[in-house]
Amino acid sequence: MRARAVRLAGTRGGFLVLYLLGAAIGRASVVDIDPLALVWPAAGLAVVWLITRPSTRSWLIDIPMITLVGLLVPVVLGLDVDVTLVLASSNLVAVLAVVYAVRRWSPETGQEGVPPTSSPTEMFGFLLAATVGSLVGVAFGALGYWAAGREISVEGVVVWWGRNVCGMIAVSATALLIVDRVRRGRPEAGANSGKAELALLFGATTALLLGDYATELPVSFLLPTVAVWAGSRFSPLVVAAHALFGGFGILWLTAVDHGPFANHGSDRTTILLAQLFIAMTLVIGLVLAAARQSRAALQADLLAQEREQSQELLTFARRAAHDLRNPLSVVESWTAELYDTLGADPDRQPPGATTMIAGIERATARMRTLVDDLLADAAARDRAPEHAVVDLQALVAEVAAEYDAEGLVRTHGPRSVTGDPVLIRQLFDNLIANALKYIRAGDLPDITIASHHQDDRVVVRAIDNGIGIPDGAHEWIFEPFRRAHDDSYPGTGLGLSTCRRIVERHGGTMRAYPREDGPGTVFEFDLPPAQATTTQPALTEVSA
Ligand code: ADP
Repeated sequence: MRARAVRLAGTRGGFLVLYLLGAAIGRASVVDIDPLALVWPAAGLAVVWLITRPSTRSWLIDIPMITLVGLLVPVVLGLDVDVTLVLASSNLVAVLAVVYAVRRWSPETGQEGVPPTSSPTEMFGFLLAATVGSLVGVAFGALGYWAAGREISVEGVVVWWGRNVCGMIAVSATALLIVDRVRRGRPEAGANSGKAELALLFGATTALLLGDYATELPVSFLLPTVAVWAGSRFSPLVVAAHALFGGFGILWLTAVDHGPFANHGSDRTTILLAQLFIAMTLVIGLVLAAARQSRAALQADLLAQEREQSQELLTFARRAAHDLRNPLSVVESWTAELYDTLGADPDRQPPGATTMIAGIERATARMRTLVDDLLADAAARDRAPEHAVVDLQALVAEVAAEYDAEGLVRTHGPRSVTGDPVLIRQLFDNLIANALKYIRAGDLPDITIASHHQDDRVVVRAIDNGIGIPDGAHEWIFEPFRRAHDDSYPGTGLGLSTCRRIVERHGGTMRAYPREDGPGTVFEFDLPPAQATTTQPALTEVSA
């Protein structure tokens, strides 16, 4: 409780400092005798300050603080008291109106520090809130001017509004993205670009700005196209940083009478046009980044749902397998009994009886495989693992002998790993059985189990000379019930998912890829090494 109060007070202190800084920067941008500042970052900061607070109770302190700074800074900097009152109250009304509108139209923004880029709908809601909320504030301010007997032109009101909208969008969106990045501690999902591309992006922007300055051609109007590139490839925070970088460049160009906005009427109009341009560049990039992020989130959701469904299916199937074991044994033993009885007296055998019994036996054998695979899968997930030293060479030899495949399987590399002997046996059993099964008719299987030490692990590769796995299937074959070949190769589609589970339970990862030196597949995974390890320098033929 105390820690939370300290954290809240710390955040408030941080916002206060930033807000003071924003207000000072704003006042410093006043030109000539006009009381309106050209930029007003403080309003955007105040919005973030209020919408990120966990409860509206803390507003009882926050809002008076914002009001006080809004009043003090202009007075300290020498503005008339009546104008200060009008500007401070209009800013406060704008901030409160934007906060209210954000809560209505972009309800997730700010909650737990979520930036407006969480989805395109949130983003549009946020833009609308900034625009409408700022209009309310400016209308209030214009009325205040009128009530104080001061004059303000229509151009002045429009500039005021535009300035506030731009400030709100640029400053609040960027500040929220920074808050989000700090809270997360890692970059957002969905960005797929590297450092070289990032350097190219900023390089291209710099080239446009300098090109504009050097050639007198306003080529920096092309900045929105660079923003499209940023939005479709980079995280929203990078997009915002890029837009602000370009924005400062545009402001600099405008100040030195270059760029697309130089010499367009008064300073105020020029700066407003430049600000609108910056805000537009930012919005283009952020909307694109938001769309890309929400698509990535949707895909992740769908994948998670699919996983959950297949998990439920597995749980159900495991229970069913458990219950099927006994009746299946009964069918198997009665079938064997029937076969013996009929075989004992061939004269009394009805025609086709042996074929029918063989059919029953085939079907029960398939069912037995499914039941066994499901129970093996359950064991791979639920079994409390033992930690023992497992001799890989002996294990592979045993498994090979079970499949009458002595001489077809070779081991190579470290002999021992640490793990659960039952699970590790199941892993090698599945892999060797598959390597013997998925082979072209007439080909002799040739299987190598090669291993080596790498970073405190034993990396094992099971290499076969079989029919291989179709392109694009090397990852999904590890999902339960997924099969990449037709029913001429019998199977349940559970073996590899069980294998990966076993490897994961030993702290490793497993993948499959095509063999480079000929047809066949490589299954690669890693297991914990045995404490005392011995290496096998040469290929060793497994004998039973
Ligand atoms: P199954 O019971 O179908 O063999 P697995 O989970 O063991 O189930 O394998 C999933 C799919 O991966 C198989 O149906 C097959 O299409 C493919 N596969 C597995 N091992 C191999 C291999 N050694 N060579 C080629 N394809 C394989």
